[in-house]
Amino acid sequence: MTKPQSWDARAKEYSLYGFTDMPSVHDRGTVVVTHGEGPYIVDTNGRRYLDANSGLWNMVAGFDHKGLIEAAQAQYARFPGYHAFFGRMSDQTVMLSEKLVEVSPFASGKVFYTNSGSEANDTMVKMLWFLHAHEGNPQRRKILTRWNAYHGVTVVSASMTGKPYNEVFGLPLDGFIHLTCPHYWRHGEPGETEEKFVARLARELEETIEREGADTIAGFFAEPVMGAGGVIPPARGYFQAIQPILCRHGIPLISDEVICGFGRTGQTWGCETYDFIPDAIISSKNLTAGFFPMGAVILGPELAGRIGAAIEEIEEFPHGFTASGHPVGCAIALKAIDVVMNEGLADNVNRLAPRFEANLQRLAEKPNIGEYRGVGFMWALEAVRDKATKTPFDGKLSVSERIANSCTDLGLICRPLGQSVVLCPPFILTEPQMDEMFEKLEQALDKVF
Ligand code: PLP
Repeated sequence: MTKPQSWDARAKEYSLYGFTDMPSVHDRGTVVVTHGEGPYIVDTNGRRYLDANSGLWNMVAGFDHKGLIEAAQAQYARFPGYHAFFGRMSDQTVMLSEKLVEVSPFASGKVFYTNSGSEANDTMVKMLWFLHAHEGNPQRRKILTRWNAYHGVTVVSASMTGKPYNEVFGLPLDGFIHLTCPHYWRHGEPGETEEKFVARLARELEETIEREGADTIAGFFAEPVMGAGGVIPPARGYFQAIQPILCRHGIPLISDEVICGFGRTGQTWGCETYDFIPDAIISSKNLTAGFFPMGAVILGPELAGRIGAAIEEIEEFPHGFTASGHPVGCAIALKAIDVVMNEGLADNVNRLAPRFEANLQRLAEKPNIGEYRGVGFMWALEAVRDKATKTPFDGKLSVSERIANSCTDLGLICRPLGQSVVLCPPFILTEPQMDEMFEKLEQALDKVF
């Protein structure tokens, strides 16, 4: 058999593509990436692209951060193997758990490691099922989430995800209940104030709990800002309205901080930015600045106490992944937390966020931009065919896909999500690089509209 010649042909011959618009790939070819320089990626033709997608939200310190590479090299040289179970644990894991509890919003807590955000959400669900069953409530299994939420791709986390595309897998599973997405601009009714919108969503939550029975619900999962839903910050006062209801019914609130955690919103946690303290945090992506696949469940004091006690009583928690708490991942995470929080990356996000917003505000004046929204270094522009009625574009290839393709042609990577174009660049972005990002985006918008 003769091998295909070009990188694109080789990729197509031997790989299946996930989350990719296949007609676009057939039309345009595959960008095969060889390396990165700061916030840029470079392809096999030597072409540079400013990556305003940070890989997949996660390469927050850029693609060649020296300190992170050195931390990985040092730990690979010292101890590349792992002992995660059977009473053994690496020293790096012990140090990272201490650190994560220290930087969490919790006064105390406990950490469990996974290899991804999806697995961390799955793990949290299993922990809740385990806990409720142990406490004599085995029927307490339903999970509440929101439409448009993204929590991952494993069977459970995809069931939590509120996206219609999971129908191709016959998901969600029964018992995963999706509530209204807290996007006021899109889901607020004519004449409804933001306050009334939030009150309506709180009522919906209360009614859902009453209808289903609080004693059948295991937990409520929410991203502080929905990321893959198209960057949706919560309507004002949303978490303050729903948390007391959950609390009253004994339903834990889990903050999925896979995107928001570690600086993306400008603070350590999205829940800090939106002023609530959850019962547990799900972390991944930025946790290692994308330099290692790793996720973590961080339990706050109450859940740590109850789940910890349940494990003591049954004497073993039968769950974990082979590479849970890998020492190289932990060493990288320790360095990444330091780099982002103490070496000025989160400060850069806060310093440049107003400039980010001012640029978006200007672009949102264009006739086909309905809304700009976001916080810190996560923003979106939503395209509309009619600004007054907020009517979306139709057509086979979404308008956001056409804008993103046009950006790629100009050397800028950004993410099409529904009708929106998402910008979530690495935190190391400089002012000239931000100007480059907006110049290219504007050219692409002018080309498409
Ligand atoms: N949760 C959120 C909020 C995410 O954005 C993602 C991925 O984008 C996940 C969970 C799943 O993480 P992973 O892709 O590492 O499984």
